[in-house]
Amino acid sequence: MRKFNAALAVIAVTFWLVSVGCERTNQHDSSHPTSTNSLADAKGDTPVRYLCTYCGAWREADPVKLIVSLSEGAKPGSADERAIADAKKTEGPFMIRHLEKCGLKGGMVVAVYPDDPKWKKLDKNKQEK
Ligand SMILES: [Zn+2]
Repeated sequence: MRKFNAALAVIAVTFWLVSVGCERTNQHDSSHPTSTNSLADAKGDTPVRYLCTYCGAWREADPVKLIVSLSEGAKPGSADERAIADAKKTEGPFMIRHLEKCGLKGGMVVAVYPDDPKWKKLDKNKQEK
């Protein structure tokens, strides 16, 4: 009976993750057109906190900026190129620092969203910029 309950819990969590995932996808598909034409203006509605699972350090960021930082191929000298360079400077260091230092010890950087119970439990003293 105990085993059966555990299996049910796993199924419930899986469904929850799937439904949360769908909700996010729907937000992206929402019909109101985005008014941003430039990556420099790109901004998400939901902040995200990147948490290093090894040392507990975290930073709050706009997930869209991370996507911008991973973009390549903007026209040289364009606003997009500057936005990508800026995003690389702000989004990159935390990831690199913790993936290099803590990744070797089994840590990884995970995204925590505001509806995650972990969101409020993050240690204020471990917040990084
Ligand atoms: Zn770390």
